[in-house]
Amino acid sequence: MKLSAVTLLSILGSVSAFAPSLIGSRASTHLDARKPFISGNWKLNPQTREEAVSLATDIAGKITDSSPDADVALFVPYVFLESAMGAVDSKLMVGAEGVCPEVKGAFTGAVSTSMLDSVGVQWALAGHSERRMIFGETDDLINAQCLKIIGQGMSVMLCIGESESEYEQNLAGNVCAIQLRKGLNGISKEQMDRVVIAYEPVWAIGTGKVATPETAQSVHASCRAILAEMYDQETADATRILYGGSVTPESVDELMGQPDIDGALVGGASLDCEKFGRIINFQA
Ligand code: PEP
Repeated sequence: MKLSAVTLLSILGSVSAFAPSLIGSRASTHLDARKPFISGNWKLNPQTREEAVSLATDIAGKITDSSPDADVALFVPYVFLESAMGAVDSKLMVGAEGVCPEVKGAFTGAVSTSMLDSVGVQWALAGHSERRMIFGETDDLINAQCLKIIGQGMSVMLCIGESESEYEQNLAGNVCAIQLRKGLNGISKEQMDRVVIAYEPVWAIGTGKVATPETAQSVHASCRAILAEMYDQETADATRILYGGSVTPESVDELMGQPDIDGALVGGASLDCEKFGRIINFQA
């Protein structure tokens, strides 16, 4: 469970005269503690239903009584949703990799939120950089997807993140601020408990170039500050912000040790049950 750096500092500021030993600790309160969230994105994998069931079953088996108290989700191709849900037996959540914001009609190849809801899917991704770049999804479309997912009573993981050239120009915070504001446009404070943010620098996705914990922490803190501006500090403190981009068993612990990193969205390593199992069982 985590407090944002801002909240932690304000709490410590008010109590430090009486309890100086709290400084530097990771103490939290029930008011704004954030439950860690580890999620996998299978993308266009695996190639058969048998492989999908086997992988989902093996991953669920990695969640034991001694695992961290975390939410765990797998975002999988549509055709595997029901088989994967059956395989994991409620040990973790299974979500869709995207939605069409339209409800019905002439949209060949599309899948709506009501279709997903009707088969028991409660989570969906929106804004993944591969959807933005390869499929040309715009901030407006991504916002429509978020609104539709929330309107259906489901929850959304909104992915944001800067390109390599934007990172090199020190624009990560600005790009994330724009994507956050546009993606969440029209979502109320009350609905924010069904929103999780995933900060995924594009240059880190599938490249093996994981952001340093310090870099990720600093962008996460700036995203939380934007959420405070858009909503209020309470909402910002309660919203989980995950890091995604080449997370591995070797990098997860230090990332999860950062005060504003509340979890991970994992691509490649979520296809390997040993690796993803270690990530689920992070130590921070
Ligand atoms: C992703 O697909 O969201 C992702 C972070 O991929 P990878 O972990 O392979 O970089």
